[in-house]
Amino acid sequence: MTGKMSQDLEYMNLALEEAKKCIPTPTAFCVGAVIVLPKGTPGNSLDEDIILSTGYSRELPGNTHAEQCALEKISDSTKSAKSSAVIYTTMEPCSERLSGNLPCTDRILASGIVKTVKVGVMEPDTFVKNNVGKQKLLQNGIEYVHITGLEKECLDAATAGH
Ligand code: ZN
Repeated sequence: MTGKMSQDLEYMNLALEEAKKCIPTPTAFCVGAVIVLPKGTPGNSLDEDIILSTGYSRELPGNTHAEQCALEKISDSTKSAKSSAVIYTTMEPCSERLSGNLPCTDRILASGIVKTVKVGVMEPDTFVKNNVGKQKLLQNGIEYVHITGLEKECLDAATAGH
């Protein structure tokens, strides 16, 4: 790769930095997430992107996921703004949780502020087979983009402690 790193890769690297803050555990992945409000979209009158929030696995108390933490750290007033935010996550959002907690896919849909999901790597079948998060997001009008180039880094970070 030559020249300036693409913006997507920059944000995915930021998400990776979040993933590396996770306390590793053999029973779950270490994932990082960054929520960005791109310039020129509703709710952002600045001439630059706004980083709304970041999160990583188990950052908040309980068995929390990265996307969940990032969404929970956003204020209610921001959430009510119905923005067109982008969530970068090092691993595709879960569609099923063995714990019975609400999956991140559903949290993203319920948030009302995310228009695009950008993922670093697909989820391996380690804990849950057949992640249908992508399908569910697409069916609900959410744009879904796999950012290529950091799959190995994202997977290495995710499986730390395994
Ligand atoms: Zn999740």
